[in-house]
Amino acid sequence: MICRECKTKNRIKANFCSHCGHPFTDAERDAAYAKTIYGRFEKLEDLWKTVSLDKITGNNIVKILSLVAVLVLGGYSVLKNGTQFRPLEHESYEIQYNKSVNEYYLISELDNFDVSLYLPRQTEEITVHQLNEMNELMETQTYMIEEAINLVNQSEVLYQIEAQGKIIQIRTFKK
Ligand SMILES: [Zn+2]
Repeated sequence: MICRECKTKNRIKANFCSHCGHPFTDAERDAAYAKTIYGRFEKLEDLWKTVSLDKITGNNIVKILSLVAVLVLGGYSVLKNGTQFRPLEHESYEIQYNKSVNEYYLISELDNFDVSLYLPRQTEEITVHQLNEMNELMETQTYMIEEAINLVNQSEVLYQIEAQGKIIQIRTFKK
């Protein structure tokens, strides 16, 4: 949420600007939330509630649209429950998952890249911990949900990414 007075980026649900103290209105907060992926999914969910079975006719287009809505909402419920907190497909890296150690491997030609994530519902902040080979904490950085998370491509570092109390582990590898 950008402050109208000083243009500072603020958390989506902020009551006041963290920089100049300018108060945000409910309308501004709602508008900011509606722009998030969760806000959009909620709108879609509302839409789905208005489509009852008796309105679904023999029309094939309606059937196909219903199927798409079910698939999307299925994905939404997974997101809502936060069970799928994981990296998203992205053109700048490949994703592999190592079940035995619960680590995601992002393989890229780039020296650093932005990682896209499926996040637990209501996430506002994302914390990224960097651990070295001895599992010692080297650095912690906090991002707001609108910000890109940039990972440096260095396989000796374990990234622990935390949102809403859930953590995923990511290692990066040079292609
Ligand atoms: Zn401000």
